[in-house]
Amino acid sequence: MSRYTGPVCRLCRRETATSKTGEKIKLFLKGDRCLSKKCAVERRGTAPGQKTQGKPSRQKISEYGRQLREKQKMRRYYGVVEDQFENYFREAARVPGQTGKTFLQLLERRLDNVVYRLNLASSRAQARQLVTHRHFRVNGRIVNIPSYVLKAGDTIELGERSKKSPLIQSNLEVARNRRAPEWLEWNDEALSAKISALPSREQIDTPVDEQLIVEYYSR
Ligand code: SF4
Repeated sequence: MSRYTGPVCRLCRRETATSKTGEKIKLFLKGDRCLSKKCAVERRGTAPGQKTQGKPSRQKISEYGRQLREKQKMRRYYGVVEDQFENYFREAARVPGQTGKTFLQLLERRLDNVVYRLNLASSRAQARQLVTHRHFRVNGRIVNIPSYVLKAGDTIELGERSKKSPLIQSNLEVARNRRAPEWLEWNDEALSAKISALPSREQIDTPVDEQLIVEYYSR
């Protein structure tokens, strides 16, 4: 299945419009814009195609519908295509323990996500682009595969020229007051990081109910 190339704010508006609680759900797909007043969820919380701003939809949503929405939300959040997303789930299901948590951990450990969590990119889409442009080394070797899954103990660093990249410098400047999650040990001087441990569920702030996704794939 090909990657979605339409306006990404529509995806957020869809999640907000189908939220049962009326909660404004943001997928943070547009970098700094997501935190500004220009954010489409802030300006209008309506579903794509819906003209009037109103209360959350009262349309009854089936159990299957809820599972499907949750799956779509998580897939869009991490920017992963359907087939690859399902492969992550199958891989997580093979590991003993809580499948939902392992599934989330796998997605969190993708190199593009780690670059984003370290504030080196303003969005996961930008992180993917930086990775494919060979800006990062993992354990001393250049890795240009955004889906590369990091392990505990791995190190990630910027190449010498990449350390001076105006884009990366500006991302770090904008995120000066934002801290990387605890499972990532960031060294501000060396501009490098170490995966100190696998993230616990509490350390992953992805707004999803992974159990619904487990149920979706277990039908
Ligand atoms: Fe979603 Fe960001 Fe667009 Fe707001 S600006 S609707 S958070 S992608």
